[in-house]
Amino acid sequence: MQGRTSDIDYIEQRILRNLAGIKSDIITASKENIIIVANDLSPADTVNLNVNEVLGFTIDCGGKTSHTAIMARALKIPAVVGLKDITSRVKTGDTIIIDGVHGVVISNPTPDKLLQYSQQKLQYDEFEMGLLKYRDLPAETSDGFRIKLLANIEIMEELSSVIAYGAEGIGLYRTEFLFLNRKDLPSEKEQFEIYKKVTETISPNPVTIRTLDIGGDKFMSQIDFAEEINPVMGLRAIRFCLKEVAIFKTQLRAILRASAYGKVKILFPMISGIEEVWQTKKILDEVKKELNSEMKAFDPDIEIGIMIEVPSASTIADLLAKEVNFFSIGTNDLIQYTLAIDRVNEQVSYLYEPLHPAVLRLIRNIINAAHSNGLTVAMCGEMAGEPFYIPILLGLGIDELSMNIMALPRVKRILRSLQYKESKSITDDIFKLSTAQEVETMLKKTANKAFLQQY
Ligand code: PEP
Ligand code: MG
Repeated sequence: MQGRTSDIDYIEQRILRNLAGIKSDIITASKENIIIVANDLSPADTVNLNVNEVLGFTIDCGGKTSHTAIMARALKIPAVVGLKDITSRVKTGDTIIIDGVHGVVISNPTPDKLLQYSQQKLQYDEFEMGLLKYRDLPAETSDGFRIKLLANIEIMEELSSVIAYGAEGIGLYRTEFLFLNRKDLPSEKEQFEIYKKVTETISPNPVTIRTLDIGGDKFMSQIDFAEEINPVMGLRAIRFCLKEVAIFKTQLRAILRASAYGKVKILFPMISGIEEVWQTKKILDEVKKELNSEMKAFDPDIEIGIMIEVPSASTIADLLAKEVNFFSIGTNDLIQYTLAIDRVNEQVSYLYEPLHPAVLRLIRNIINAAHSNGLTVAMCGEMAGEPFYIPILLGLGIDELSMNIMALPRVKRILRSLQYKESKSITDDIFKLSTAQEVETMLKKTANKAFLQQY
């Protein structure tokens, strides 16, 4: 019983806090700055981290494109995930260095190491500050080829950075974070107010609002989800929305109403076949009719797009292109589903290869199908914010790249150092290669000075 005292203290504190209606976050024990070392953190846990207290975190589980890692980037918290056994290598009170750029964690560093990393951190901060000079420069290659660079956001706190980092709009607003960590569902009014605020803040630039992508690794406590053996391939995203039509319609009403206040586009996640698009459009039409009969304003020409993130969708991109106004390639899932590797599973994260010839061929197919049908095509998976991949994406003719906000100036810097013509010819050569490793070697060989100065 003595050993359980701290648990009982914790429960007591928690009950008192709940009775007092104080919002709790998962870190309660410390008033100091801390680094979290845990087996796992869910995306819902991560979004609740107090950025004033948590200097960084490292966990045994997860992959670079898991929503936990994505949320760490959104919160600008240094993190290293998927270390398998970090919890058994570190104990409470240890001093730890978290190098989120290189995916390195050092426990109990020597004074020399500590000094070296403190200096490195200063240089890193300086480098980051220096990148802000790219904010107002156009996102174009040295031979004048333009690509739009946009931001991905998950939470409202990121809005001010979208502007500060010079994004040309929001290419992906992951609305599901609005639904996490609460007991009720967000009402139409609440959602409308939030989407309106985002739209007005970003106006006249566009805001691409993605409808609820729940399931997979993000669950809401308001809904009793059935246990699924493979939730990532289960009732997720559009599949969930087409089943829970009332929740879907409430969100669509809120998005449509926000479209009266700026340029809003709607993006539907995880489309795997054309029937899903038909069903979705039918529901959207019903919602538009309802709003019309209630005399509620919305943009009647609102553009709709689909995420291409399931291999079947990329294979029939030519058919899907006839149904929508734009595509957005979700490489996080497209790679996961194409290469059959769970993006949150650290055991197989070494197989997560954006440069895999199969992935590159799918991306090429999507872009070509979109362009032959007069559609623009964006990419909003983490691949879009990785400077190393920009020459290929440029060479393939991508129109827009949407990425975590911190990546924006870096990507613009690289883009401005590249030549469109040269990238196109490198890309043509890359399609003659047979492994991701060969592609990487070729890209490294052709890399210019701007690349080599990456952190
Ligand atoms: C993707 O799959 O690439 C994507 C952008 O969506 P998410 O990461 O939210 O699944
Ligand atoms: Mg996805």
